[in-house]
Amino acid sequence: MLIDSHCHLDAPEFDTDRDRVVAAAGTAGLVQLVVPSVGAAMFEGTRRMRERYGCAVAYGLHPLYIAEHRDEHLALLADWLVREPAVAVGEIGLDFYVPGLDPVRQVDVFEAQLRLARDLDLPVIVHIRRSQDQVLKYLRKWRVRGGIAHAFNGSVQQAEAFMALGFKLGFGGAMTYSGSQRIRRLAAELPLDAIVLETDAPDIPPAWLAGPPPGRNAPDQLPRIAAELAGLRGVAVDAVLAATASSVQAVLGPLGRMHEAGHPA
Ligand code: ZN
Repeated sequence: MLIDSHCHLDAPEFDTDRDRVVAAAGTAGLVQLVVPSVGAAMFEGTRRMRERYGCAVAYGLHPLYIAEHRDEHLALLADWLVREPAVAVGEIGLDFYVPGLDPVRQVDVFEAQLRLARDLDLPVIVHIRRSQDQVLKYLRKWRVRGGIAHAFNGSVQQAEAFMALGFKLGFGGAMTYSGSQRIRRLAAELPLDAIVLETDAPDIPPAWLAGPPPGRNAPDQLPRIAAELAGLRGVAVDAVLAATASSVQAVLGPLGRMHEAGHPA
């Protein structure tokens, strides 16, 4: 069973052909896409992914857009998570890679959302770019029920720390580059049941879409990403699909199945 555990299907890059992107994902064998929202202005659009395609959705305020998040957006998020079906609080976290993102405000908004996840007993989908130890610190403080460390690229020790807190580790396009030795070694050596598959579409194109010019990443690339992981580990693709699909549902709960527009299951 193939599940894309992290896909921004609601992103404007898919506005012109989203129905086709979802149909192609279905044809490629995907049964579900997890769509994390990135900010209050996107919540309605994210909800549409659940209504139109049956996607599993999450709501959160993403650190890359920290300059846009207002305190009333945190209140809106709290209200939204009570009213709307959601599998997690996400995408939330810390980004200390991109310059100019106020680190103090990032921590404030992240902690407020961890508190919310804990109070509502929801898992979280965390963005951890150049911030893994800091994210771990706040996860230890707030003790949410676990979740997914998206685009994991840390050390074995950091992987084990996330796992001990009830987290799975997201692997996707970054693992497909032959030069990404460290992340490929992690993908090969971490316990298979710690790993979930993700495209992060339309971002992080896999090696075969890198260009130039870079192609748009989409969830129908996931089978090839899964095959790459199976190859790195020397196991059958079916074993990878079964383990990763069961892992994502172990942390997010049963996810149901997506469907094409106008064809509810
Ligand atoms: Zn993302």
